[in-house]
Amino acid sequence: MKKITVAIDGFSSTGKSTLAKQLAKELEYVYVDTGAMYRAVAYYAMQNQLIGSDFFDKIALIQALPKIQLEFKFNADLGFGEMYLNDENVEKQIRTIEVSNFVSKVAEISEVRSKLVEQQQEMGKNKAIVMDGRDIGTVVFPDAELKIFMTASAETRAQRRFDELQQKGDDVSYEDVLKNVVERDYIDTHRADSPLVIADDAIEIDNSYLNREEQFAAVLELINDVVKTV
Ligand code: C5P
Repeated sequence: MKKITVAIDGFSSTGKSTLAKQLAKELEYVYVDTGAMYRAVAYYAMQNQLIGSDFFDKIALIQALPKIQLEFKFNADLGFGEMYLNDENVEKQIRTIEVSNFVSKVAEISEVRSKLVEQQQEMGKNKAIVMDGRDIGTVVFPDAELKIFMTASAETRAQRRFDELQQKGDDVSYEDVLKNVVERDYIDTHRADSPLVIADDAIEIDNSYLNREEQFAAVLELINDVVKTV
């Protein structure tokens, strides 16, 4: 069967990664979570005192970029690649609310974006990839055969993220999570470089009232239709 590129964009906590992982497994494609890459850069900036609640040394972060090495290493038990920052597995560290609070500021920097976009394009050059993020269908793979744009209300998304963090034992309040979701939406949609927008040819899915199985079945059908035509 012909291999394609599936680009999944959308707001935070819309279930993009869950859907992308399911699809990649079903199709035997590679799954790439580009949010993890931006999160790893934000984590590096935090660890090196380049960003904090009242400071952000953008110049120092840009200068440090050549020292930041990002790699996904496949974990067969999990069925997807985990994020390694300079050879250290940072999957857990990058999912905290602290990293969520800083990541969109880091993702605004053009030098950060161009470094990561280049790496993402390299990973997808042979197709057979499902990539999720904010600019996949618009910037990374504007020629992707299938583009999905996922939305849901901020409250639905905050509740999902809150449940996830609570399950992991994170001590956060729903209000803080909702504030973070709303703030990230704002920064992601208003930044100068590669803002989050719906590609003209993307198919929009509002999953506020769709369960995982319904959503998965709907997108798989779209993929099967596209594969027949390429
Ligand atoms: O997808 P996730 O919520 O993990 O992404 C974290 C943040 O990384 C987003 O809020 C956004 O600021 C940034 N991001 C981006 N472009 C991407 C993926 C993520 O700017 N392709």
